[in-house]
Amino acid sequence: MSIKEYAKKMIESDPVFKDISDLKETLWVNDKYLPFELTDAVCQLVVTDADIADAEARLQRFAPYIRKCFPETEPAEGLIESPLSDIPKMQKTLEETYGASIPGRLLLKRDSDLAIAGSVKARGGIYEVLKHAEDLALEAGFITEDDNYERFADDDMKEFFSHYTVQVGSTGNLGLSIGIMSAFLGFKVRVHMSADARQWKKDMLRSKGVEVIEYDDDYSAAVLEGRRQSDLDPSSYFVDDENSLPLFLGYAVAASRLKKQFEERSITVDADHPLIVYIPCGVGGAPGGLCYGLKRIYKDNVHVFFCEPTLFPSVLIGMASGKYNEANVSDFGISGMSAADGLACASPSGLVTRLDSNLVSGDFTVRDAVLYDYMRMLMDTEDIFIEPSSCAAFNGPLGLLSFEAGKAYLSAHGLDADKLANATQICWATGGRLVPEDIREEYVNTHLD
Ligand SMILES: *Cc1c(COP(=O)(O)O)cnc(C)c1O
Repeated sequence: MSIKEYAKKMIESDPVFKDISDLKETLWVNDKYLPFELTDAVCQLVVTDADIADAEARLQRFAPYIRKCFPETEPAEGLIESPLSDIPKMQKTLEETYGASIPGRLLLKRDSDLAIAGSVKARGGIYEVLKHAEDLALEAGFITEDDNYERFADDDMKEFFSHYTVQVGSTGNLGLSIGIMSAFLGFKVRVHMSADARQWKKDMLRSKGVEVIEYDDDYSAAVLEGRRQSDLDPSSYFVDDENSLPLFLGYAVAASRLKKQFEERSITVDADHPLIVYIPCGVGGAPGGLCYGLKRIYKDNVHVFFCEPTLFPSVLIGMASGKYNEANVSDFGISGMSAADGLACASPSGLVTRLDSNLVSGDFTVRDAVLYDYMRMLMDTEDIFIEPSSCAAFNGPLGLLSFEAGKAYLSAHGLDADKLANATQICWATGGRLVPEDIREEYVNTHLD
């Protein structure tokens, strides 16, 4: 069955897919979700626990360098990590405003405040650039793995990297993280930006010496052209958001860091204390890596839901149809520009839709207008700013107990009222810190229907 035939069949037979094609908010529950035990062996053919541990060790090796170059990372001794905050006032206001029930403890994982890139991309994006730099430096004999990596700040290293180019296609935040980190190390950098990308992100990159190439086209087109140009140049490295394993690993490391934060705060995750996580999703790289890492640690006790704009439910469609990266939202008759610029991807990552296809619990779709409402609510109640794309996560805790599909999921997994009262629910805030003051002001004053 072609993807268009699949779309037609699903829209006719399943109300969830009818809602998707009508751009209505919905919850798709993943019918391919499996108990962890059944996924373990196959998943580890691609990404093992040792791979994730290796990525974690690499970030540890770079910590002295990061600490030296980015003083904001001093408190975490050179690790790029974000706070985990209780948001009880937001929880209460969400419940009251929308007449919903949000059981358990609601937390915000604030990757919106991550050092250097101010978004979740500071995990995967910076990791991949550091790994590439390390690979080149090891091969050229500049360092060994046992050296102090402060060495990467030396002038001769920067001169060495200036002979190499890093390129990436991006809707904005990945470009920021790759651009800032690569330029800092000394690389030449070209960022290929889609039409959805915000002007201030392009301006900020150019101010750091990054070459920004603008496209009047969507994200997939920017990636395609960036990849093509990079492939023509042997000294160029392309960070491939649609397929990258290093990006995936950089995101996956977040899980063991979160585990430490839970331990410090005596938060229990087990069969009687479920963990439910909601992550805004674009091409799928960041939420896919985070989900994978969390499943490796918490197995069946963690339930991960992605959150996508009603205009770009690309990962949902790619997973549901089993067509992975070949799926495109246009197959469901969907087109348009989303205010959730960080999530505006019409086709999903082939790597993530395959690797996570039995791990993700489901996917909430979110209308642009509510993103601004949630953003204002979080500022008013908790005095925390995150960018609109990030706010997609709040449809999760609001929708889980209100959509029929959510209730069915909960009962199928034995998540009764007692267990939910013990639950830890996390909205993953994926971006915000670098948003300039005037743009924040603009967001605060944006009201959409
Ligand atoms: C990139 C991004 C995401 C999602 O990441 P993908 O890898 O594209 O799925 C979510 N929120 C924000 C703010 C982002 O920049």
